[in-house]
Amino acid sequence: SLAEKLQDTFDKLRGKGKLTEKDVKAALKEVKMALLEADVNYKVVKDFISKIEERAVGKEVMESLTPGQHVIKIVNEEMQELMGGSKEDIAISSEPPTIIMMVGLQGSGKTTSAGKLARKLSKDGKNPLLVAADVYRPAAIRQLQVLGERLELPVFSMGEDSNPVDIAKGSINYAASHNCDTIILDTAGRLHIDQEMMEELENIKGTVEPDEILLVVDAMTGQDAVNVAKNFDQRLDIDGIVLTKMDGDARGGAALSIKAITGKPIKFAGTGEKLADLETFHPDRMSSRILGMGDVLSLIEKAEKSIDQEKAKALEEKLRKNEFTLEDFMEQMEQVRNMGPMDEILGMIPGMGGAKQLKNMQVDDKQLDYIEAIISSMTPEERRDPEVINGSRRKRIAQGSGTSIQEVNRLLKQFRQIKKMMKQLNSGKMKKGGGLNLP
Ligand code: GDP
Ligand code: MG
Repeated sequence: SLAEKLQDTFDKLRGKGKLTEKDVKAALKEVKMALLEADVNYKVVKDFISKIEERAVGKEVMESLTPGQHVIKIVNEEMQELMGGSKEDIAISSEPPTIIMMVGLQGSGKTTSAGKLARKLSKDGKNPLLVAADVYRPAAIRQLQVLGERLELPVFSMGEDSNPVDIAKGSINYAASHNCDTIILDTAGRLHIDQEMMEELENIKGTVEPDEILLVVDAMTGQDAVNVAKNFDQRLDIDGIVLTKMDGDARGGAALSIKAITGKPIKFAGTGEKLADLETFHPDRMSSRILGMGDVLSLIEKAEKSIDQEKAKALEEKLRKNEFTLEDFMEQMEQVRNMGPMDEILGMIPGMGGAKQLKNMQVDDKQLDYIEAIISSMTPEERRDPEVINGSRRKRIAQGSGTSIQEVNRLLKQFRQIKKMMKQLNSGKMKKGGGLNLP
Protein backbone atom coordinates (compact mmCIF):
# COMPACT_ATOMS: atom_id res chain seq x y z
CA SER A 1 0.00 0.00 0.00
CA LEU A 2 0.95 3.66 -0.22
CA ALA A 3 1.54 3.85 3.52
CA GLU A 4 3.82 0.82 3.50
CA LYS A 5 5.88 2.10 0.58
CA LEU A 6 6.31 5.54 2.10
CA GLN A 7 7.25 4.04 5.44
CA ASP A 8 9.89 1.86 3.80
CA THR A 9 11.36 4.90 2.11
CA PHE A 10 11.40 6.85 5.37
CA ASP A 11 12.91 3.98 7.31
CA LYS A 12 15.84 4.13 4.92
CA LEU A 13 16.16 7.89 5.40
CA ARG A 14 16.07 7.61 9.17
CA GLY A 15 18.73 4.95 9.05
CA LYS A 16 21.24 7.34 7.55
CA GLY A 17 23.16 9.68 9.79
CA LYS A 18 24.02 12.43 7.35
CA LEU A 19 22.03 13.07 4.22
CA THR A 20 23.38 14.24 0.90
CA GLU A 21 21.32 15.97 -1.72
CA LYS A 22 21.49 12.76 -3.67
CA ASP A 23 19.95 10.78 -0.79
CA VAL A 24 17.04 13.19 -0.54
CA LYS A 25 16.45 13.18 -4.27
CA ALA A 26 16.50 9.39 -4.36
CA ALA A 27 13.99 9.22 -1.51
CA LEU A 28 11.72 11.76 -3.16
CA LYS A 29 11.84 9.78 -6.35
CA GLU A 30 10.51 6.80 -4.43
CA VAL A 31 7.81 8.94 -2.85
CA LYS A 32 6.84 10.15 -6.31
CA MET A 33 6.56 6.62 -7.68
CA ALA A 34 4.49 5.51 -4.70
CA LEU A 35 2.09 8.41 -5.14
CA LEU A 36 1.67 7.79 -8.85
CA GLU A 37 1.01 4.14 -8.19
CA ALA A 38 -1.60 5.18 -5.65
CA ASP A 39 -3.36 6.96 -8.51
CA VAL A 40 -2.65 10.48 -7.37
CA ASN A 41 -3.02 12.98 -10.21
CA TYR A 42 0.27 13.47 -12.09
CA LYS A 43 0.34 17.25 -11.90
CA VAL A 44 -0.48 17.16 -8.19
CA VAL A 45 2.42 14.77 -7.58
CA LYS A 46 4.84 16.91 -9.57
CA ASP A 47 3.99 20.08 -7.67
CA PHE A 48 4.05 18.25 -4.34
CA ILE A 49 7.48 16.77 -4.91
CA SER A 50 9.01 20.00 -6.14
CA LYS A 51 7.71 21.88 -3.11
CA ILE A 52 9.27 19.31 -0.79
CA GLU A 53 12.51 19.26 -2.70
CA GLU A 54 12.79 23.01 -2.45
CA ARG A 55 12.53 22.82 1.31
CA ALA A 56 14.41 19.59 1.90
CA VAL A 57 17.72 20.01 0.12
CA GLY A 58 18.65 23.17 1.96
CA LYS A 59 21.56 23.52 4.34
CA GLU A 60 19.34 23.64 7.39
CA VAL A 61 18.00 20.14 6.77
CA MET A 62 21.23 18.53 5.61
CA GLU A 63 23.19 19.76 8.56
CA SER A 64 20.59 19.09 11.21
CA LEU A 65 21.25 16.27 13.66
CA THR A 66 18.31 14.25 12.41
CA PRO A 67 18.06 15.08 8.73
CA GLY A 68 15.84 12.05 8.03
CA GLN A 69 13.25 13.15 10.56
CA HIS A 70 13.45 16.64 9.17
CA VAL A 71 12.57 15.48 5.67
CA ILE A 72 9.69 13.40 6.98
CA LYS A 73 8.38 16.40 8.88
CA ILE A 74 8.42 18.45 5.70
CA VAL A 75 6.62 15.71 3.76
CA ASN A 76 4.02 15.53 6.53
CA GLU A 77 3.43 19.28 6.48
CA GLU A 78 3.12 19.43 2.72
CA MET A 79 0.82 16.42 2.62
CA GLN A 80 -1.43 18.01 5.21
CA GLU A 81 -1.49 21.21 3.15
CA LEU A 82 -2.32 19.20 0.04
CA MET A 83 -5.44 17.85 1.73
CA GLY A 84 -6.61 21.28 2.80
CA GLY A 85 -4.55 22.19 5.84
CA SER A 86 -7.05 21.97 8.65
CA LYS A 87 -10.48 20.46 9.07
CA GLU A 88 -13.49 22.28 7.60
CA ASP A 89 -16.91 22.17 9.21
CA ILE A 90 -20.22 22.21 7.43
CA ALA A 91 -22.14 25.46 7.27
CA ILE A 92 -24.88 25.93 9.82
CA SER A 93 -27.58 28.44 8.94
CA SER A 94 -28.12 31.19 11.50
CA GLU A 95 -31.83 30.72 10.93
CA PRO A 96 -33.11 27.15 10.87
CA PRO A 97 -33.42 25.00 8.95
CA THR A 98 -29.90 24.32 7.76
CA ILE A 99 -30.28 22.59 4.40
CA ILE A 100 -27.68 20.06 3.38
CA MET A 101 -27.90 18.61 -0.11
CA MET A 102 -26.16 15.33 -0.87
CA VAL A 103 -25.19 14.88 -4.53
CA GLY A 104 -23.12 12.33 -6.42
CA LEU A 105 -23.12 9.43 -8.82
CA GLN A 106 -25.23 6.33 -8.25
CA GLY A 107 -23.59 3.94 -5.84
CA SER A 108 -21.15 6.49 -4.45
CA GLY A 109 -22.78 6.23 -1.02
CA LYS A 110 -25.13 9.23 -0.90
CA THR A 111 -28.01 7.56 0.91
CA THR A 112 -25.74 5.77 3.37
CA SER A 113 -23.79 8.97 4.03
CA ALA A 114 -27.05 10.92 4.50
CA GLY A 115 -27.95 8.44 7.25
CA LYS A 116 -24.48 8.60 8.81
CA LEU A 117 -24.52 12.38 8.78
CA ALA A 118 -28.00 12.45 10.33
CA ARG A 119 -26.71 10.20 13.10
CA LYS A 120 -23.71 12.43 13.72
CA LEU A 121 -25.77 15.61 13.78
CA SER A 122 -28.32 14.08 16.07
CA LYS A 123 -25.53 13.05 18.45
CA ASP A 124 -24.37 16.66 18.37
CA GLY A 125 -27.79 17.74 19.60
CA LYS A 126 -29.37 18.60 16.25
CA ASN A 127 -32.77 17.50 15.07
CA PRO A 128 -32.25 16.29 11.51
CA LEU A 129 -34.86 15.41 8.90
CA LEU A 130 -33.93 12.97 6.14
CA VAL A 131 -35.57 13.72 2.79
CA ALA A 132 -36.09 11.10 0.08
CA ALA A 133 -35.61 13.08 -3.13
CA ASP A 134 -34.38 10.13 -5.21
CA VAL A 135 -37.58 9.00 -6.95
CA TYR A 136 -35.98 7.02 -9.77
CA ARG A 137 -34.63 3.92 -8.10
CA PRO A 138 -37.57 1.88 -6.81
CA ALA A 139 -35.89 0.96 -3.54
CA ALA A 140 -34.29 4.33 -2.83
CA ILE A 141 -37.11 5.76 -0.72
CA ARG A 142 -37.42 2.55 1.26
CA GLN A 143 -33.66 2.48 1.86
CA LEU A 144 -33.78 5.91 3.46
CA GLN A 145 -36.86 5.00 5.50
CA VAL A 146 -35.09 1.95 6.88
CA LEU A 147 -32.13 4.12 7.92
CA GLY A 148 -34.53 6.58 9.53
CA GLU A 149 -36.20 3.80 11.51
CA ARG A 150 -32.87 2.48 12.74
CA LEU A 151 -31.81 5.95 13.80
CA GLU A 152 -35.25 6.82 15.15
CA LEU A 153 -35.20 9.94 13.01
CA PRO A 154 -37.97 11.28 10.75
CA VAL A 155 -37.90 10.72 6.98
CA PHE A 156 -39.87 12.92 4.62
CA SER A 157 -41.06 11.47 1.32
CA MET A 158 -43.85 12.14 -1.16
CA GLY A 159 -43.72 8.85 -3.02
CA GLU A 160 -42.21 7.99 -6.39
CA ASP A 161 -44.57 10.04 -8.50
CA SER A 162 -43.53 13.41 -7.16
CA ASN A 163 -41.04 15.83 -8.57
CA PRO A 164 -37.76 16.06 -6.59
CA VAL A 165 -37.95 19.86 -6.58
CA ASP A 166 -41.42 19.70 -5.00
CA ILE A 167 -40.19 17.18 -2.45
CA ALA A 168 -37.28 19.42 -1.47
CA LYS A 169 -39.64 22.39 -1.17
CA GLY A 170 -42.20 20.36 0.78
CA SER A 171 -39.58 19.19 3.24
CA ILE A 172 -39.02 22.75 4.48
CA ASN A 173 -42.62 23.05 5.67
CA TYR A 174 -42.46 19.59 7.16
CA ALA A 175 -39.28 20.44 9.05
CA ALA A 176 -40.83 23.62 10.42
CA SER A 177 -43.91 21.79 11.69
CA HIS A 178 -41.90 18.90 13.14
CA ASN A 179 -39.27 20.87 14.97
CA CYS A 180 -36.41 19.77 12.72
CA ASP A 181 -33.50 22.20 12.48
CA THR A 182 -31.50 20.41 9.80
CA ILE A 183 -32.66 19.01 6.46
CA ILE A 184 -30.59 16.39 4.67
CA LEU A 185 -31.65 15.96 1.03
CA ASP A 186 -30.83 12.57 -0.48
CA THR A 187 -30.89 13.17 -4.23
CA ALA A 188 -30.77 10.84 -7.22
CA GLY A 189 -27.54 9.97 -9.00
CA ARG A 190 -26.77 8.38 -12.35
CA LEU A 191 -24.03 5.99 -13.29
CA HIS A 192 -22.28 8.74 -15.23
CA ILE A 193 -22.38 12.51 -15.40
CA ASP A 194 -25.63 13.19 -17.16
CA GLN A 195 -27.32 16.37 -18.39
CA GLU A 196 -30.73 15.55 -16.97
CA MET A 197 -29.35 14.77 -13.52
CA MET A 198 -27.34 18.00 -13.40
CA GLU A 199 -30.37 20.05 -14.44
CA GLU A 200 -32.50 18.47 -11.75
CA LEU A 201 -29.83 19.17 -9.12
CA GLU A 202 -29.50 22.76 -10.33
CA ASN A 203 -33.26 23.16 -10.04
CA ILE A 204 -33.29 21.84 -6.49
CA LYS A 205 -30.37 24.09 -5.60
CA GLY A 206 -32.07 27.13 -7.13
CA THR A 207 -35.32 26.43 -5.33
CA VAL A 208 -34.23 25.62 -1.77
CA GLU A 209 -30.83 27.37 -1.73
CA PRO A 210 -28.96 24.81 0.40
CA ASP A 211 -26.46 26.00 2.99
CA GLU A 212 -24.19 23.13 2.15
CA ILE A 213 -23.86 21.01 -0.98
CA LEU A 214 -21.89 17.89 -0.17
CA LEU A 215 -20.58 15.83 -3.05
CA VAL A 216 -20.26 12.14 -2.24
CA VAL A 217 -17.50 10.31 -4.12
CA ASP A 218 -16.17 6.78 -3.92
CA ALA A 219 -12.48 6.71 -2.94
CA MET A 220 -12.05 3.35 -4.63
CA THR A 221 -12.44 4.98 -8.04
CA GLY A 222 -9.22 6.99 -7.66
CA GLN A 223 -8.72 9.65 -10.31
CA ASP A 224 -12.22 9.08 -11.67
CA ALA A 225 -13.52 10.39 -8.37
CA VAL A 226 -11.46 13.52 -8.90
CA ASN A 227 -12.82 14.03 -12.43
CA VAL A 228 -16.37 13.51 -11.19
CA ALA A 229 -15.77 16.07 -8.46
CA LYS A 230 -14.48 18.61 -10.97
CA ASN A 231 -17.59 18.14 -13.09
CA PHE A 232 -20.05 18.44 -10.23
CA ASP A 233 -18.26 21.47 -8.87
CA GLN A 234 -18.39 23.28 -12.21
CA ARG A 235 -22.17 22.83 -12.36
CA LEU A 236 -23.17 23.15 -8.73
CA ASP A 237 -20.35 24.97 -6.96
CA ILE A 238 -20.19 22.39 -4.17
CA ASP A 239 -19.11 23.23 -0.63
CA GLY A 240 -17.37 20.06 0.38
CA ILE A 241 -16.74 16.40 -0.29
CA VAL A 242 -17.62 13.17 1.47
CA LEU A 243 -15.03 10.58 0.49
CA THR A 244 -16.58 7.15 0.98
CA LYS A 245 -15.20 3.61 1.09
CA MET A 246 -11.92 4.70 2.65
CA ASP A 247 -12.02 1.35 4.43
CA GLY A 248 -11.67 -0.47 1.15
CA ASP A 249 -8.60 -1.04 -0.90
CA ALA A 250 -8.42 2.65 -1.73
CA ARG A 251 -5.01 3.58 -3.01
CA GLY A 252 -5.15 7.05 -1.56
CA GLY A 253 -5.20 8.88 -4.87
CA ALA A 254 -8.54 10.59 -4.40
CA ALA A 255 -7.83 11.79 -0.87
CA LEU A 256 -4.54 13.33 -1.97
CA SER A 257 -5.66 14.94 -5.24
CA ILE A 258 -9.23 16.10 -4.84
CA LYS A 259 -8.61 19.30 -2.90
CA ALA A 260 -5.76 20.37 -5.16
CA ILE A 261 -7.80 19.78 -8.31
CA THR A 262 -11.20 21.13 -7.23
CA GLY A 263 -10.21 23.60 -4.53
CA LYS A 264 -12.98 22.10 -2.38
CA PRO A 265 -12.21 20.39 0.93
CA ILE A 266 -12.96 16.85 2.01
CA LYS A 267 -15.20 17.27 5.04
CA PHE A 268 -16.02 13.67 5.92
CA ALA A 269 -14.62 10.22 5.26
CA GLY A 270 -16.79 7.11 5.07
CA THR A 271 -14.97 4.18 6.62
CA GLY A 272 -17.47 1.33 6.44
CA GLU A 273 -21.04 0.29 5.78
CA LYS A 274 -22.31 0.84 9.31
CA LEU A 275 -24.03 4.05 10.35
CA ALA A 276 -21.26 4.86 12.81
CA ASP A 277 -18.62 4.71 10.07
CA LEU A 278 -18.27 8.39 9.26
CA GLU A 279 -15.29 10.44 10.42
CA THR A 280 -14.75 14.16 10.30
CA PHE A 281 -11.86 14.55 7.91
CA HIS A 282 -8.72 15.96 9.53
CA PRO A 283 -5.96 16.56 6.94
CA ASP A 284 -3.27 16.51 9.63
CA ARG A 285 -4.38 13.20 11.11
CA MET A 286 -4.86 11.65 7.69
CA SER A 287 -1.40 12.67 6.66
CA SER A 288 0.24 11.20 9.77
CA ARG A 289 -1.76 8.06 9.23
CA ILE A 290 -0.56 7.73 5.65
CA LEU A 291 3.01 8.35 6.73
CA GLY A 292 2.79 5.78 9.52
CA MET A 293 3.17 8.38 12.24
CA GLY A 294 -0.02 7.19 13.86
CA ASP A 295 -3.23 8.95 14.62
CA VAL A 296 -3.37 9.04 18.37
CA LEU A 297 -5.95 11.80 18.51
CA SER A 298 -8.55 9.85 16.54
CA LEU A 299 -7.81 6.83 18.67
CA ILE A 300 -8.43 8.73 21.88
CA GLU A 301 -11.65 10.19 20.50
CA LYS A 302 -12.79 6.73 19.51
CA ALA A 303 -11.99 5.34 22.92
CA GLU A 304 -13.80 8.15 24.69
CA LYS A 305 -16.88 7.58 22.57
CA SER A 306 -16.97 3.81 22.97
CA ILE A 307 -15.83 3.22 26.50
CA ASP A 308 -18.48 3.54 29.13
CA GLN A 309 -16.94 5.60 31.94
CA GLU A 310 -19.15 4.18 34.65
CA LYS A 311 -18.39 0.63 33.66
CA ALA A 312 -14.71 1.50 33.65
CA LYS A 313 -14.98 2.70 37.23
CA ALA A 314 -16.84 -0.40 38.35
CA LEU A 315 -14.18 -2.49 36.72
CA GLU A 316 -11.41 -0.68 38.52
CA GLU A 317 -13.19 -1.43 41.80
CA LYS A 318 -13.41 -5.11 40.92
CA LEU A 319 -9.75 -5.23 40.02
CA ARG A 320 -8.87 -3.70 43.31
CA LYS A 321 -10.87 -6.30 45.16
CA ASN A 322 -9.56 -9.05 42.94
CA GLU A 323 -13.08 -9.97 41.81
CA PHE A 324 -12.35 -9.83 38.10
CA THR A 325 -14.29 -12.58 36.27
CA LEU A 326 -14.49 -13.91 32.74
CA GLU A 327 -17.70 -11.94 32.41
CA ASP A 328 -15.79 -8.73 33.07
CA PHE A 329 -13.15 -9.87 30.65
CA MET A 330 -15.76 -10.29 27.92
CA GLU A 331 -17.32 -6.94 28.64
CA GLN A 332 -13.91 -5.31 28.37
CA MET A 333 -13.40 -6.95 25.06
CA GLU A 334 -16.72 -5.77 23.75
CA GLN A 335 -15.81 -2.22 24.63
CA VAL A 336 -12.57 -2.48 22.74
CA ARG A 337 -14.53 -3.95 19.87
CA ASN A 338 -16.92 -1.03 19.79
CA MET A 339 -13.97 1.03 18.73
CA GLY A 340 -13.81 -0.81 15.41
CA PRO A 341 -11.83 -3.56 13.75
CA MET A 342 -8.59 -4.42 15.54
CA ASP A 343 -6.31 -3.72 12.59
CA GLU A 344 -7.88 -0.30 12.17
CA ILE A 345 -7.33 0.55 15.81
CA LEU A 346 -3.75 -0.69 15.75
CA GLY A 347 -3.17 1.22 12.53
CA MET A 348 -3.77 4.44 14.41
CA ILE A 349 -1.02 3.73 16.89
CA PRO A 350 2.36 5.17 15.84
CA GLY A 351 4.71 2.55 14.55
CA MET A 352 1.97 0.00 14.15
CA GLY A 353 0.71 1.16 10.80
CA GLY A 354 2.69 -1.38 8.84
CA ALA A 355 0.88 -4.58 8.02
CA LYS A 356 3.97 -6.60 8.86
CA GLN A 357 3.86 -5.70 12.53
CA LEU A 358 0.11 -6.29 12.66
CA LYS A 359 0.51 -9.86 11.55
CA ASN A 360 2.93 -10.53 14.38
CA MET A 361 0.57 -9.08 16.95
CA GLN A 362 -1.94 -11.89 16.42
CA VAL A 363 -4.87 -9.96 17.81
CA ASP A 364 -7.13 -10.41 14.87
CA ASP A 365 -10.88 -10.10 15.07
CA LYS A 366 -11.30 -13.80 14.48
CA GLN A 367 -9.53 -14.60 17.69
CA LEU A 368 -11.76 -12.19 19.56
CA ASP A 369 -14.73 -13.98 17.99
CA TYR A 370 -13.44 -17.28 19.38
CA ILE A 371 -12.96 -15.88 22.83
CA GLU A 372 -16.43 -14.40 22.85
CA ALA A 373 -17.97 -17.64 21.63
CA ILE A 374 -16.17 -19.62 24.32
CA ILE A 375 -17.18 -17.34 27.16
CA SER A 376 -20.75 -17.20 25.86
CA SER A 377 -20.94 -21.00 26.00
CA MET A 378 -20.10 -21.08 29.70
CA THR A 379 -22.62 -21.06 32.50
CA PRO A 380 -22.73 -17.92 34.70
CA GLU A 381 -21.09 -19.92 37.47
CA GLU A 382 -18.23 -20.95 35.19
CA ARG A 383 -17.69 -17.36 34.12
CA ARG A 384 -17.46 -16.16 37.68
CA ASP A 385 -15.21 -18.95 38.80
CA PRO A 386 -13.37 -20.64 35.92
CA GLU A 387 -11.64 -23.00 38.38
CA VAL A 388 -14.80 -25.17 38.43
CA ILE A 389 -14.35 -25.99 34.75
CA ASN A 390 -13.16 -29.60 34.61
CA GLY A 391 -12.35 -31.82 31.63
CA SER A 392 -15.89 -32.72 30.66
CA ARG A 393 -17.07 -29.16 31.03
CA ARG A 394 -14.25 -28.00 28.77
CA LYS A 395 -15.35 -30.45 26.14
CA ARG A 396 -18.92 -29.21 26.35
CA ILE A 397 -17.83 -25.58 26.10
CA ALA A 398 -15.66 -26.33 23.08
CA GLN A 399 -18.57 -28.01 21.35
CA GLY A 400 -21.01 -25.29 22.28
CA SER A 401 -18.75 -22.58 20.92
CA GLY A 402 -17.64 -24.41 17.80
CA THR A 403 -14.02 -24.26 18.92
CA SER A 404 -11.62 -26.88 20.33
CA ILE A 405 -10.58 -27.96 23.81
CA GLN A 406 -7.13 -26.51 23.10
CA GLU A 407 -8.73 -23.15 22.42
CA VAL A 408 -10.71 -23.30 25.64
CA ASN A 409 -7.59 -24.25 27.57
CA ARG A 410 -5.65 -21.42 26.02
CA LEU A 411 -8.27 -18.89 27.04
CA LEU A 412 -8.43 -20.20 30.62
CA LYS A 413 -4.65 -20.05 30.84
CA GLN A 414 -4.62 -16.48 29.51
CA PHE A 415 -7.26 -15.48 32.00
CA ARG A 416 -5.31 -17.00 34.88
CA GLN A 417 -2.21 -15.10 33.78
CA ILE A 418 -4.13 -11.84 33.58
CA LYS A 419 -5.53 -12.36 37.06
CA LYS A 420 -2.12 -13.15 38.43
CA MET A 421 -0.68 -10.06 36.81
CA MET A 422 -3.43 -7.91 38.24
CA LYS A 423 -2.88 -9.30 41.68
CA GLN A 424 0.79 -8.35 41.45
CA LEU A 425 -0.08 -4.91 40.19
CA ASN A 426 -2.53 -4.47 43.00
CA SER A 427 -0.17 -5.49 45.75
CA GLY A 428 2.46 -3.20 44.27
CA LYS A 429 0.03 -0.35 44.36
CA MET A 430 -0.89 -1.11 47.95
CA LYS A 431 2.72 -0.93 49.05
CA LYS A 432 3.23 2.41 47.36
CA GLY A 433 0.02 4.19 48.25
CA GLY A 434 -1.22 2.29 51.25
CA GLY A 435 1.88 2.36 53.42
CA LEU A 436 1.57 4.72 56.33
CA ASN A 437 5.25 5.21 56.89
CA LEU A 438 5.39 8.49 55.04
CA PRO A 439 8.30 10.75 55.94
P1 GDP B 1 -26.07 5.94 -3.46
O1 GDP B 1 -26.52 5.26 -4.70
O2 GDP B 1 -25.10 7.02 -3.76
O3 GDP B 1 -27.19 6.41 -2.60
O4 GDP B 1 -25.23 4.86 -2.63
P2 GDP B 1 -25.65 4.00 -1.35
O5 GDP B 1 -25.69 4.87 -0.15
O6 GDP B 1 -26.86 3.22 -1.65
O7 GDP B 1 -24.37 3.07 -1.20
C1 GDP B 1 -23.96 2.14 -2.19
C2 GDP B 1 -23.21 1.01 -1.53
O8 GDP B 1 -21.99 1.48 -0.97
C3 GDP B 1 -23.96 0.38 -0.38
O9 GDP B 1 -23.79 -1.01 -0.44
C4 GDP B 1 -23.29 0.95 0.86
O10 GDP B 1 -23.38 0.08 1.95
C5 GDP B 1 -21.88 1.10 0.38
N1 GDP B 1 -21.13 2.13 1.12
C6 GDP B 1 -21.43 3.43 1.28
N2 GDP B 1 -20.48 4.08 1.99
C7 GDP B 1 -19.53 3.17 2.29
C8 GDP B 1 -18.27 3.20 3.01
O11 GDP B 1 -17.80 4.22 3.52
N3 GDP B 1 -17.58 2.03 3.09
C9 GDP B 1 -18.06 0.88 2.53
N4 GDP B 1 -17.32 -0.23 2.67
N5 GDP B 1 -19.22 0.80 1.86
C10 GDP B 1 -19.94 1.92 1.74
MG1 MG C 1 -29.21 6.53 -2.92
